[in-house]
Amino acid sequence: MERIHVTLRTRPLSSEDANSSPWRISANSIFIPNHSSKFEFDRIFCEDSKTQAVYEARTKEIVAAAVQGRVLMTNSGKTYTMRGSATEPGVIPLAVRDLFDIIQQDVDREFLLRMSYMEIYNEEINDLLAPEHRKLQIHESIERGIYVAGLREEIVASPEQVLGLMEFGESHRHIGETNMNVHSSRSHTIFRMIIESRDKSEDEDLGSSCDAVRVSVLNLVDLAGSERAAKTGAEGVRLKEGSHINKSLMALGTVIKKLSEGAESQGGHVPYRDSKLTRILQPALGGNANTAIICNITLAQIHVDETKSSLQFASRAL
Ligand code: ADP
Ligand code: MG
Repeated sequence: MERIHVTLRTRPLSSEDANSSPWRISANSIFIPNHSSKFEFDRIFCEDSKTQAVYEARTKEIVAAAVQGRVLMTNSGKTYTMRGSATEPGVIPLAVRDLFDIIQQDVDREFLLRMSYMEIYNEEINDLLAPEHRKLQIHESIERGIYVAGLREEIVASPEQVLGLMEFGESHRHIGETNMNVHSSRSHTIFRMIIESRDKSEDEDLGSSCDAVRVSVLNLVDLAGSERAAKTGAEGVRLKEGSHINKSLMALGTVIKKLSEGAESQGGHVPYRDSKLTRILQPALGGNANTAIICNITLAQIHVDETKSSLQFASRAL
C-alpha cells in the first residue's frame, strides 16, 4: 500500500455559505468548470458521507501504526471529523474502539496501552493531560528517539477511559483572549496511543529476549486552520492567521512533499526541524511509517480561494 494516502472530504453547505458552489466533483478529481486547475485525490467523500466511511477508506487499516493528519481550512470540518458530534463518532473514538477490539482478539500477545494528548500553540508544546506541564521541549536520544520531555503518558485499559481523558484534556486547552472555538482552530493537537506488546509464550522463558517487546505509535492529529476570516465581533474584519500556524503548516507541506518525492530514501534533506509539529511527527512521517491525510473543505463559493489553497496543499502529498 502507498505510504501516504490522501482523502478529500467536503462538509455540507451552511446558510452562511449562501448555498452556492462553483466546484464539480467527478470520480477522484475536483475542479471548477472552465478553470485550468483540477485536483486529484485517492478518494473523495461528499457532504452526505459518514465519518465512519471516511475512516474506513484508509485510516482503519493503519490504525495500529500510523499518523493521521488533517489539513488546513478553518471551519471545514476537521475537528468534526476527528472528534465527532453527538450524532456521529469521529475518527479518534472509532480508532480507539478498533484498537481495543483488535487487542482483545489477539490471544497470543499481552498488551500495554498508554495515551498522551498534547497541544502545539504558538510553537509551544502544552500537555493536555497534565495542564501544569507547559512549554515542553523536544529531545532526542539513542534510546528513546525523538520525544517530548515530561509529557504525561497515562496507562489506559478501556475506550471509555481514553475518551474520558480526552475530554479532560479538551477542557484544559489553553484559552487565549479569544473564545474557545477560535482558539481551538489556532492550535494543533496530537492525540497519541502507544501500543506495547509481547508474546505471552515468552513468559516461560528465562528472562525475555530483547526483541520480545514490540512498540508502535498511533498519532491522530487535528491541525489548526491555515488562514481564517476571523470574525472579531462587530468589526468582522478578516484577520491574518498567526504566522506560527502558517509556518508549521508550510513546514508540514514541505516535509510531505519531500517524502513523496523520495527525498529520504535518496539521502536528501527533509526539513523536519522547521517546526515543532514536523519534528514531533518525524518518526511518524518518515521511515516506513504510514500516513493517512483527510483534507476537509467546503464547496461554498464564498470560500473558493481558501479551498483552492487547501486542495493545492493536500494534493501535493500524493
Ligand atoms: P474545523 O475544525 O475545520 O475548523 P469544524 O470541525 O469545527 O471545522 O466544523 C465547522 C462546523 O461545521 C461545525 O459546526 C461542525 O459541526 C460542522 N460540520 C463539519 N463537518 C460536518 C459534517 N460532515 N456534517 C455535519 N456538520 C459538519
Ligand atoms: Mg478545528
